[in-house]
Amino acid sequence: MGWGDFIRLFRMLFGSRDPDLDEIQKLGLLAVKIGQVFALSIDFLGAEKCRKLAGLYSRQNKLHPEAFEALIAQNGGDEFLSKFAEFDRSPFAVASVGQVHRARLRNGSDVAVKMVKGDLRPSFERDIARVVGLDKIYRELPHHTIVFADDYRSSIQSIFDSKELTDDISFYIRNSSVTDPYVAPKGRSGLYVLVPAPNQNSGIDREKQKFEFRDRVIRKIVERTPLKDLESHIIAEQMMTPLDWEKKSNVYLGATFNLAHTLTQMLYFRPHNGFEEIDNMYLVGGGTHPGSGLPTIYESARISSNIISEKYGVPYRKPSDLSEKSGVRNRQVHHRAPEETIELEPAGK
Ligand SMILES: Cc1cc2nc3c(=O)[nH]c(=O)nc-3n(C[C@H](O)[C@H](O)[C@H](O)COP(=O)(O)OP(=O)(O)OC[C@H]3O[C@@H](n4cnc5c(N)ncnc54)[C@H](O)[C@@H]3O)c2cc1C
Repeated sequence: MGWGDFIRLFRMLFGSRDPDLDEIQKLGLLAVKIGQVFALSIDFLGAEKCRKLAGLYSRQNKLHPEAFEALIAQNGGDEFLSKFAEFDRSPFAVASVGQVHRARLRNGSDVAVKMVKGDLRPSFERDIARVVGLDKIYRELPHHTIVFADDYRSSIQSIFDSKELTDDISFYIRNSSVTDPYVAPKGRSGLYVLVPAPNQNSGIDREKQKFEFRDRVIRKIVERTPLKDLESHIIAEQMMTPLDWEKKSNVYLGATFNLAHTLTQMLYFRPHNGFEEIDNMYLVGGGTHPGSGLPTIYESARISSNIISEKYGVPYRKPSDLSEKSGVRNRQVHHRAPEETIELEPAGK
């Protein structure tokens, strides 16, 4: 299976149309195996699609007579057959990797002979070996890269105002294999690409548009970064859209960065840490004061726990008074979070 086959397969698995089982079989044994695994993932794909995919378990093709004779020849031909008093050339069970035949040994014992479809092994092993992100490492791209849209203002307007997917996108790429060789097998790597997009308020049909948008993102990466041959090195990929965040993680409108940081929704104007309508309820997270992003969210947790500690008289470390710090002279001050500022003794004491 080439990269194009993988993309075709995953489009069939995750797309809105029914999976084409003939097409999956044509993609090869690994595609059939992946389809069979997904047939059991009702929570992921939905019952109807899984029911269709389950057809991959029952529609195994038995080898046609010529292929079967070739397989016998491959296993020793007449010498192989001479071990049996009888050998039923018609299988009584068929699976994707092989088929099972009734036979009787020369000593009269009845046996079942499993014939492994030999021609599948090399291609299956090759396909398995390829299933990891990219089959190369792009050393010319640093760990972090941010590419801004050509017209940044209008690209932001298309996200927040007109709420549409445009061609002029900004994106972030993390190419971690250049600093940590252990995030992928030797010689391979994985890229993480983040593209800001309108939330679920936009009414965008994600299922319909996601593959076209994915192609657009790849085109932009090729155009704006040194990864000119990216498409031909992709072995596996996974896509998360706002619809996925909404459905799978219960993120409101799939807006993973939560309430926008507009002036009227920032800092004090964000929902307060102490819930206003219900006593003894406290909020923590991106939608709460002071704002979104992990460092800020940790701060939100610290603020909420401090309010609770204050209320119940539990001792806690208070934010240090910065005016006290201003009087410190000849001292090294190591700035961490304000309340954790560590004051060191003067150097050379
Ligand atoms: C792709 C991506 C990249 C990001 N990159 C960065 C970054 O580089 N730096 C950064 O600072 N921030 C980044 N962020 C943002 C950051 O991850 C979020 O702002 C942060 O995780 C929000 O934290 P939270 O606790 O508010 O909500 P969440 O992390 O969303 O936690 C809410 C939890 O509640 C669970 N939940 C929802 N509904 C229910 C329910 N009814 N019952 C029980 N549980 C429920 C959810 O499953 C989830 O686990 C990124 C976000 C995304 C999606």
